[in-house]
Amino acid sequence: MCQRHHARALHHDLRLEIDGVLVSWAVPKGPSPDPSVRRLAIRTDDHDMAHATYEGAYVRDGGAPGSVIVWDTGTYEHRTRRDGTPVPAPVALADGHLVVDLDGRRLTGPYALTRTGVVAGKEQWILVKMRGRGVEVEADPAAEMLTSVLSGLTNADLERQAQAR
Ligand code: MN
Repeated sequence: MCQRHHARALHHDLRLEIDGVLVSWAVPKGPSPDPSVRRLAIRTDDHDMAHATYEGAYVRDGGAPGSVIVWDTGTYEHRTRRDGTPVPAPVALADGHLVVDLDGRRLTGPYALTRTGVVAGKEQWILVKMRGRGVEVEADPAAEMLTSVLSGLTNADLERQAQAR
């Protein structure tokens, strides 16, 4: 699943259930279905499963509005292989290379996540669409689709509602 998070900087949070937790990456420009577009994905703390449906507005340090919507939801199949042999997801995660076949409302098909290094204590990964199902060469849904797949509301809608209370 994927959340759209208006924090100090707007980003998407890609979260994959592995061993009962939501393993998470912050993707500053969001996921792209174009295989020629590589997107930085910064590994963040695992979240518990309850966070998968969390949406809400809050006040950030300094008083600026913040909010989270559920931008995509669905299931996925873990598809990482090494030398033709399936690799368990926790091993792939530790090794820094993960292939997932998404079956979401907005994102579908195979995506690869590859760790490229560590900067300031944070793992830097690259998220890229692989050839196959779900390729959209000129689409940028992260930039064009602003609503929640659960409520139909945008981050700005949630922040306005919170301010009106
Ligand atoms: Mn976030």
